[in-house]
Amino acid sequence: MIIRPYSKIIELFRKFYLFCNQNRLEVFQNLKIQMEVKERVKCFIIGSGPAGYTAAIYASRAGLKPVLYTGSQPGGQLTITNDVENYPGYPDGVVGPQMMMDFQRQAERFGTQVRNGLVTKVDFSGEIHKLTIDDSFIIEAETVIVSTGASAKWLGLESEQRLNSKGVSACAVCDGFFFRGQEVAVVGGGDTACEEASYLSKLCKKVYLIVRRDQMRASQIMQKRVLNTPNIEILWNSVTEDILGEDSVNGMRIKNTVTNETKDIPVTGFFVAIGHQPNTDIFKGILDMDESGYLITEKGSTRTNIEGVFACGDAQDNVYRQAVTAAGTGCMAALDAERYLATKEAELA
Ligand code: NDP
Repeated sequence: MIIRPYSKIIELFRKFYLFCNQNRLEVFQNLKIQMEVKERVKCFIIGSGPAGYTAAIYASRAGLKPVLYTGSQPGGQLTITNDVENYPGYPDGVVGPQMMMDFQRQAERFGTQVRNGLVTKVDFSGEIHKLTIDDSFIIEAETVIVSTGASAKWLGLESEQRLNSKGVSACAVCDGFFFRGQEVAVVGGGDTACEEASYLSKLCKKVYLIVRRDQMRASQIMQKRVLNTPNIEILWNSVTEDILGEDSVNGMRIKNTVTNETKDIPVTGFFVAIGHQPNTDIFKGILDMDESGYLITEKGSTRTNIEGVFACGDAQDNVYRQAVTAAGTGCMAALDAERYLATKEAELA
């Protein structure tokens, strides 16, 4: 008889605990509390790298009044890059954050609304797409341009973070030029690492390629290329224990996992090439993607498997991954969105 009230109290505690913890959103959904739909827009852009801002420039000039949400890293990967010297139109180079501010200003000049915030959920099941912002409210959109980019994977060392852009980089094409005639290292054993090492070998005196196993994952042709390059030395079975230097890189501590021997090797540049992760988690099960998470678009276009949703930039490109190529596909996405809307309007007329 006295068990019943206890069980009720326990159940109440359980519900309270669920509410206060990870299931808060679920509890809200179960309680059928509707999130407010704040507005409806013609064109919604997710992401604020070169692809997103270029899409915004074209969409706003076409009168689509785009709304762009910046995401968790406003400006994207270029904001963690120092000098950008390979973007056409900047003959003297430009620092990454400045370049992204220029992109933003140009997009705003034509009426793009740039807002800080994170798209936390998407619902592409209807003709009008729904985007949840910061788990708080919903914006409806006739077209969506996905330009969420990709993030380089890092080793996770404290020194790697501290020396980022001070000798540590994840892009040889962007930063290799600053290490001309010097000794540098690349970590990774995939195609990217081999490509980065080959690229750097043409600029640098010596390149160490740090491979954690006794074999590489890279394609045979890429492996042959690095094995046949005299100024690339492969450090097999090797892991990086630390990147050395206070204000700039001056060496690395490498451990051989077979002999357990540790040694310090002087280098001035340290390139991490252990893969990229496209920022596409929120589209899982909704947009078609490959096994690595890169969004799949129709050949020669930015159309995804969902009508009115277009993908551009590094979120759908695991080959070129350059600011200029991202900007190019951003332009394509805006043109595709504009044509999609024009066709819809013509059908309704
Ligand atoms: P991959 O995932 O193919 O390779 C990552 C490499 O980094 C592997 O050798 C892996 O080692 C190593 N690695 C992962 N984590 C660590 C760590 N914590 N410490 C040390 N090493 C680590 O990524 P890529 O970026 O190289 O390639 C991604 C895709 O893009 C591939 O499909 C590739 O073929 C493609 N690509 C194609 C190019 C081309 O065709 N020109 C150029 C560049 C990429 P392990 O093998 O032990 O797991």
